[in-house]
Amino acid sequence: MSAAEASPTGAGRVVASARQLLSAKAERFTESVIREMTRLALQHDAVNMAQGFPDFPASEEVKQAARQAITDDINQYAITWGAKELRDAIARKFERTQGVRVDPEREITVTCGSTEAMMATMMGIINPGDEVVIFEPHYENYGPDAILSGATPRFVQLQPPDWNFDRDELTRAFGPKTKAIIVNTPNNPTGKVFSREELEFIRDLCVRWNAFAVTDEIYEHIIFDGAQHISMASLDGMRDLAITINGLSKTYSVTGWRVGWAIAPPDASTPIRKVHDFLTVGAAAPLQQAGAVALELPLSYYTKLAEMYRVKRDRMLGILTDAGFKCFKPSGAYYIMTDISIFGFPDDLSFSRYLVEKIGIAVVPASSFYDDPSMGSRQVRFTFCKKESTLAACAEKLSKLRSA
Ligand code: GLN
Repeated sequence: MSAAEASPTGAGRVVASARQLLSAKAERFTESVIREMTRLALQHDAVNMAQGFPDFPASEEVKQAARQAITDDINQYAITWGAKELRDAIARKFERTQGVRVDPEREITVTCGSTEAMMATMMGIINPGDEVVIFEPHYENYGPDAILSGATPRFVQLQPPDWNFDRDELTRAFGPKTKAIIVNTPNNPTGKVFSREELEFIRDLCVRWNAFAVTDEIYEHIIFDGAQHISMASLDGMRDLAITINGLSKTYSVTGWRVGWAIAPPDASTPIRKVHDFLTVGAAAPLQQAGAVALELPLSYYTKLAEMYRVKRDRMLGILTDAGFKCFKPSGAYYIMTDISIFGFPDDLSFSRYLVEKIGIAVVPASSFYDDPSMGSRQVRFTFCKKESTLAACAEKLSKLRSA
């Protein structure tokens, strides 16, 4: 018998008793603001500069590989921790680009996007009382990842305009309870690319406190102005402490395919694989097959990708600067954080609402990237992973802002 049927006194009572059954953990976070902004963009017929997904086609070769996989009847479950061809290709590429050798049989878990890789990792390594260090502003998923896995977050600020962190503050955030630090490089939303020196400083803290570095490297190939992407796993001493999160989404412009992975030492991969198995069983088998083809693309593919995005970044910096925004120039990833003080709105939420409703542009209010929303109240994030006509439409709409 359901709670509703059992209730003798009607609907109000049903709601009250049902409430008590709901998850206290899920109560502690809101829906994704990024995805909410996409829905608002659709509702107001606005240009979507909020959610980071390309609106241009993916590579023909990679799409053909997916079509072929279905034609070849690769329609049933892949091995839970990932199709062998894909895991082998991930291992080869990691060695080719970062010089790190991993065992695809024991150290790679393929997941439904890097979102699941991150969640499965956190649930696989966290115990009650564990702390996780998170730089902020941070990609919004890391908050719910910490809550659902039961970790206590310790936030450390990346400070504008260069998004550097204070080394003493980071040192103080580590301690005996620290289980991991989450590092996202190239960084969403700031565009910061962590330098070797910074990563080594983080490495030393991880080694000192025997903490994992969970590094979200999903934007590894979107880097500008000579910046270099360095995997934490490639640093001396990190082989057993680095958990590398990555996926097909950004590098191959297939965010809807939901194919990601976690590369972790065998003892960490074991619980990650178990959590993954019971969360989702596995990522879409034919798309894993196509992923194996994508990962073998020549290095020139990645050079061209970075150059294409550099042009878009520069175009978008021009559009935003012309419209009066103060921009924090990104060295990587495909977002631009901006300061909106000049527009005189009370906060980022009211400004974002005005932009989507009156100007016709959806952005992400930056308060969603901070634990304390007031820290983001003067900032909004634009993405620039859009085709030229979308960027031109954005420029056109923003001209109304200048004259408003
Ligand atoms: N990573 C992208 C962003 O920050 C998309 C996130 C998502 O919706 N999964 O916009």
